Amino acid sequence: MIELHHLTKRYGDKLAVDDLSFRIPEGVVTGFLGPNGAGKSTTMRMILDLDHPTGGEVTIDGKRYAEIQDPLRQIGALLEAKAVHPGRTAYDHLLWLAQSNRVPRARVDEVLDLVGLSAVAKKRARGFSLGMGQRLGIASALLADPQTLMFDEPVNGLDPEGILWIRNLMKRLASEGRTVFVSSHLMSEMALTADHLVVIGRGRLLADLPMAEFIKRNSRSAVRLRSPQPERLLDVLHGAGLAAEPGPDGSWEVVDGDPAALGELAAAHGVTLHELSPQQASLEEAFMQMTAESVEYRTGGHPGAPAAPGTPGAPAAPASASAPVWGAGWNDRPSGKES
Ligand code: ADP
Ligand code: MG
Repeated sequence: MIELHHLTKRYGDKLAVDDLSFRIPEGVVTGFLGPNGAGKSTTMRMILDLDHPTGGEVTIDGKRYAEIQDPLRQIGALLEAKAVHPGRTAYDHLLWLAQSNRVPRARVDEVLDLVGLSAVAKKRARGFSLGMGQRLGIASALLADPQTLMFDEPVNGLDPEGILWIRNLMKRLASEGRTVFVSSHLMSEMALTADHLVVIGRGRLLADLPMAEFIKRNSRSAVRLRSPQPERLLDVLHGAGLAAEPGPDGSWEVVDGDPAALGELAAAHGVTLHELSPQQASLEEAFMQMTAESVEYRTGGHPGAPAAPGTPGAPAAPASASAPVWGAGWNDRPSGKES
């Protein structure tokens, strides 16, 4: 288990990581989500002691990185920047790593096989595609069979086959009881991979909760009904025992409604409909809304996610310093309940 205690990193007057405290449990994939510049890589570098915190500390299974006897056997990582000599073959790179860490030579063939690089093991790294480079990085991380694994944006630039492979690998590593911590700036990717979710924006913790909980809170679906006779429509809905919430332009929204049944109901009562449309708030929208105020560089004129007006299920974005952190669960913080 990795624990962060008030971890802070300042570069000049820039606060890259701002008082982060959370735990990364074993046996599950924990997704580390945040827009570009949120502080994910900086946090991961500090976990590996590649960068020194301005404040706070990180422990891995209760120990600081510097106190760990054999760090490579404890924690393996794939960071963004590749650190493979271009003139070295995949095999030689791994052999050099194995020998300098007292890992048996046979393990090199094992990990090459595990990541699917056996056929190109004797090829120089300079000829590797991005996907092959990622696989080699993962082979290095797995070499000493560590209990904890960390991957910084591992699917960036990969093709769908490579993405699926990495996703399944992370799930398998977690199912073996390991701690798996993976970063991404893509909600959609995290939703498919992670069991637990930690969201940061501008270095600050925004959410820390089980993925299922995040999905439950944010995947509200509803049917929007708009009629020139809105009051009559509401009476008909109520008469059928359906609750309706006000939507935009005088419309009504029935949460988890069935479009066909609602259309039939309106027709049976002679209510004219000008709109009958299923509404689905996407997880991507929920994430963008949550981080809207913490995005550093925004592409032209997109003010975060346009929260579908009249989406009462959508929680407010906790963007200010005093805002509650979403979630509870393993980290024993007060839960950021929807207001
Ligand atoms: P992420 O990985 O979430 O995209 P980073 O951790 O790379 O974010 O960066 C967080 C912030 O810290 C950014 O504003 C970035 O410009 C800044 N930063 C990161 N590394 C350095 C550094 N070595 N020197 C100065 N600023 C840095
Ligand atoms: Mg990064």
